[in-house]
Amino acid sequence: MALVNENYLKLPGSYLFSEIARRINKFKADNPEADIIRLGIGDVTRPLSPAVIEAMHQGVEEMSKAETFRGYGPEQGYQFLIEKIMNHDFIPRGVELSVDEVFISDGAKSDTANFQELFGLNNIMAVTDPVYPVYVDSNVMAGRTGFYDSKKGQYDAIVYLPCTEENGMKPSLPKTRVDMIYLCFPNNPTGMTLSKEELKQWVDYARENRSIILFDAAYEGYIQEEGVPHSIFEIEGAREVAVEFRSFSKTAGFTGTRCAYTIVPKDVKVYDSQGKAHSLNQLWLRRQTTKFNGVSYPVQAAAAAIFTEEGQRQIRETIDYYMENARIIREGLQKAGYTVFGGVNAPYIWMKTPNHMGSWEFFDKLMINAHVIGTPGAGFGANGEGYFRLTAFGTRENTLRAIERIKTRM
Ligand code: PLP
Repeated sequence: MALVNENYLKLPGSYLFSEIARRINKFKADNPEADIIRLGIGDVTRPLSPAVIEAMHQGVEEMSKAETFRGYGPEQGYQFLIEKIMNHDFIPRGVELSVDEVFISDGAKSDTANFQELFGLNNIMAVTDPVYPVYVDSNVMAGRTGFYDSKKGQYDAIVYLPCTEENGMKPSLPKTRVDMIYLCFPNNPTGMTLSKEELKQWVDYARENRSIILFDAAYEGYIQEEGVPHSIFEIEGAREVAVEFRSFSKTAGFTGTRCAYTIVPKDVKVYDSQGKAHSLNQLWLRRQTTKFNGVSYPVQAAAAAIFTEEGQRQIRETIDYYMENARIIREGLQKAGYTVFGGVNAPYIWMKTPNHMGSWEFFDKLMINAHVIGTPGAGFGANGEGYFRLTAFGTRENTLRAIERIKTRM
């Protein structure tokens, strides 16, 4: 008899986006004429840039000839891409990395979900609340979180770091010791960032407690303001205590193409029960070489084209397009009297629902009255209740129409 991994049974039922889809489908069946605008999606809508497409075509062409064909590549990624990443995204910010500290992968989702495998099950983990659900669910599957309390909407062994209106959506240091800390800035779903000083408090905490920060910088490309850290490694001492996840998904439209990378500095150590230190970099290398066989050559060639002058200009244009949508949403909602967060250095706008309305209730109201779809904050954690996420990834026309409808029909 095959036994189940009972940790999977601790996951509460319906996933956020399937519940949203269910409600939309029912509404569409009852109202076939309704012209629905989706500002709930976390996926990009603009096509890959011409420089990327050209490089991808060329990569495919090379695969068609025996002289240039490539089979298995290095599991950690091709050096031509790693060097471009280092030279372009890190050295100009004063961050020195070596080639074997950068691991190319097929996504920040899989990397953030898989990375917890390297840690003992007795580690105490902390997440912000609200949070990108992957950090929590992957740890549930591994058996690190205790049981789900459906009343609280939280697991009993996780330390939650509330992000609320009172603290400006910026988490405070935990009151009890934690070993693994997931931070995501610019944040999904709140759209907020931390300053260097604020991030330094976390690095200092991790150094004092020998904790590790799992820093998700998937939205780094959206930072507009000077002085906001793009990488945790801009903070002194972070090389000893942090791992950083990056992705080409949102910065360059690779959500359907799949390419990302994770930085694991050689200075980061984890300890065994005897107190002996082990290199996290070596453990991740071991994990990846066993369980992962690399990103396809044409995709890595395409990703490298992002770093050409043309590629940079083109991806910047797309990000600017989305950030203009973010501005329209943010300012439109403010003018309509809503309290909003984010949307300045991130493609997400986190709005407070009016009159303490529940976030699913607001979802239904927005869908029924304005035919606009967003994402209920409660789907991102207990502290997301009473909030709602809108995204800047729609078309300009739909963004403008959606805000007009929110102003006039809500
Ligand atoms: N990290 C965060 C915070 C995200 O919001 C997302 C996607 O929505 C990801 C990671 C996933 O990135 P990728 O497409 O590289 O798997």
